[in-house]
Amino acid sequence: MFENLSERLGGVFDRLTKKGALSEADVATALREVRTALLEADVSLPVARDFVARVQEKATGQAVTKSVTPGQQVIKIVHDELIAVLAGEGPVEALKIDNPPATVLMVGLQGSGKTTTTAKLAKRFTEKNNKRVLLASLDTNRPAAMEQLAILGAQIGVDSLPIVKGESAVQIAKRAKTQAAMGGYDVLFLDTAGRLHIDEVLMDEIQAVRDIAAPRETLLVVDGLTGQDAVKVASEFDGKVGISGVVLTRMDGDGRGGAALSMRAVTGKPIRFVGLGEKMDALEVFEPERVAGRILG
Ligand code: GDP
Repeated sequence: MFENLSERLGGVFDRLTKKGALSEADVATALREVRTALLEADVSLPVARDFVARVQEKATGQAVTKSVTPGQQVIKIVHDELIAVLAGEGPVEALKIDNPPATVLMVGLQGSGKTTTTAKLAKRFTEKNNKRVLLASLDTNRPAAMEQLAILGAQIGVDSLPIVKGESAVQIAKRAKTQAAMGGYDVLFLDTAGRLHIDEVLMDEIQAVRDIAAPRETLLVVDGLTGQDAVKVASEFDGKVGISGVVLTRMDGDGRGGAALSMRAVTGKPIRFVGLGEKMDALEVFEPERVAGRILG
């Protein structure tokens, strides 16, 4: 996660700290390089531009060039700005899964890792938070996807709603809600159908399910490797169905990290978790401070 960006920024800051005394021109050159590194990491242009402008402003305001360790000062400012851009405004709340049964609607494109992530979250809440979790797949177009969730559920010891052939997504959602309430479950995960592209049919179905299910959380699962496309997908889903947070998958293969850096600034929605592999434990809570520390090495 972030290896390429980290290496690029490391190079910029090494040169800066080796210089000792810094002129304003040195800082400006370094910040241009930071901007290039961000763009190469597939951070969206306005986000990269604003980021560098804010660092520039702070570096000037704090008379960095006159300080004893100017390079370190610049790094500190970049570090703080990274946290700010990753975290966005206001605190990122924990998932709202108290007040049982709490429904979590999982949405995203096919192949994004939605079903895998649903199972990973179910395992996490069962083991770490001691919750009773029920899983239900609403992917009526793909029986294999419904079975996949049931198989993953069995592997991690989490109950799934029995599959009844011929039901619509809305009917399954209703049955799942009833089952969750009657069965004393704390959390119900509804794994909605995915498609290869965003289309009206998909969005209509998710809206219908959302209206019936009244979810406490609607989590969008997106492939982090797709960079700015992931951010576009998030904006579209948010506009159509309203999302409360994002899970970025395949961050184990993402050396660039552009989606993570642009997501909050562009969509206003927090990244809640990142997927770091295919295994059921390969899921981490997204912590801006830790991520900023990782990027700056
Ligand atoms: P869905 O169509 O969105 O439900 O996608 P799946 O959950 O079936 O995932 C598609 C593929 O991506 C599977 O082979 C998963 O094991 C894999 N996958 C999911 N999340 C991650 C992740 O965070 N890292 C990696 N490397 N693979 C993942």
